[in-house]
Amino acid sequence: MSVTLDLSRVSGAAPAVPAPINLSGLTRAQMVAVLTESGVVEHGKAKMRATQVFRWLHHRGVTDFAQMTDVAKETRARLAERFSVSRPEIVERQVSKDGTRKWLIRMGPGIEVETVYIPSVGRAGALCVSSQVGCTLNCSFCHTGTQALVRNLTAAEIVAQVQIAKDDLAEWPSDKDDRLLSNIVFMGMGEPLYNLGSVADAIDIISDNEGIAISRRRITVSTSGVVPQLQALGEKTQAMLAISLHATNDALRDVLVPLNKKYPLAQLMAGIRAYPGLSNARRVTFEYVMLKGVNDSLDEARALVKLIKGLPAKVNLIPFNPWPGSDYQCSDWATIEAFGAILNKAGYSSPIRTPRGRDILAACGQLKSESEKVRASALRQLSMAAMAGVLDDDDDGDEAA
Ligand code: SAH
Ligand code: SF4
Repeated sequence: MSVTLDLSRVSGAAPAVPAPINLSGLTRAQMVAVLTESGVVEHGKAKMRATQVFRWLHHRGVTDFAQMTDVAKETRARLAERFSVSRPEIVERQVSKDGTRKWLIRMGPGIEVETVYIPSVGRAGALCVSSQVGCTLNCSFCHTGTQALVRNLTAAEIVAQVQIAKDDLAEWPSDKDDRLLSNIVFMGMGEPLYNLGSVADAIDIISDNEGIAISRRRITVSTSGVVPQLQALGEKTQAMLAISLHATNDALRDVLVPLNKKYPLAQLMAGIRAYPGLSNARRVTFEYVMLKGVNDSLDEARALVKLIKGLPAKVNLIPFNPWPGSDYQCSDWATIEAFGAILNKAGYSSPIRTPRGRDILAACGQLKSESEKVRASALRQLSMAAMAGVLDDDDDGDEAA
């Protein structure tokens, strides 16, 4: 009798066969190289074949090589032997009364991320995507910060979040009129600038005119302030920049966003001022979470005006979303309004955003006996929905065209 050891069920064990490359995570240039290297397509035809496959994936949204009808049957079969074009599994899908949609997506065993679509944000609607599972930074008001980093997402996994949203919104082909998904915000789980390679590839893919074709002006990357990567972010992606500021002096920001100890405000502001392409039509967004009695005094509003003086900027005031175990409280509404009024008077647009999708959050929040993960997931959704509100409803970037 022979006994075989099934390592596939052992946590952390390497799979016996490496997963095939998912072509959805390749930029068009990478696709040319990979198809050429694989020997599946003829050398001289690689560019044309790559564009064909790319269009099937990102213009038509297919998930099976068999659907690529203008590719020879034999080539399709050979592609299918080596590569994959499937979507990750959707563990949970929720739709709020206000149209907010949330998907919990499983990228692999124990690797789950949330993606939220918020209607009526940006030009038509925004998708809030995650770049990492968990986060290495421990911002004291952020629930994700309490979850250790599991791993970076690949470009394919970032793009898959967009594809899944488009499947659900019936947004294929990508040039459909009246698209509901017009903007992308990297404001989900994780710090995008600690995964810049995959984030930049994903932005290349999502913005490619042969595919999903969401303009780079409608893609916003939010960072807690990884200063050395700002220049590269601008150069590689030409994305809109959002900065999680939350404080106007180093002593407080050191507590709220501990990364500030490494890159203090003076360095951060200098990095922002040098961000490629900043102009009145491409303003930086400052995110400022309103924490009662912590960072919400009128003196701090004035200090904020001083700090961002001369920068083409807008400020988004985000009511704090409390979570179990957190010591902070959200500022009173009147305080938030008074804070915003000072910014407005100084010429800075400063919308206050209420979270969307409260009803589906409430449903999740009722799952008191469920695991911590479920509750964390509900809280995360609230944060993400609030975050995506950083886009002005009428701010579609057209003026930058
Ligand atoms: N790591 C990146 C992007 C993801 S966090 C960053 O920090 O910018 C997206 C936004 O959610 C950040 O502005 C963060 O400060 C904010 N946020 C996190 N937890 C929050 C909470 N409980 N209430 C309100 N905003 C929160
Ligand atoms: Fe990470 Fe952003 Fe949360 Fe800070 S606010 S812990 S950087 S996800």
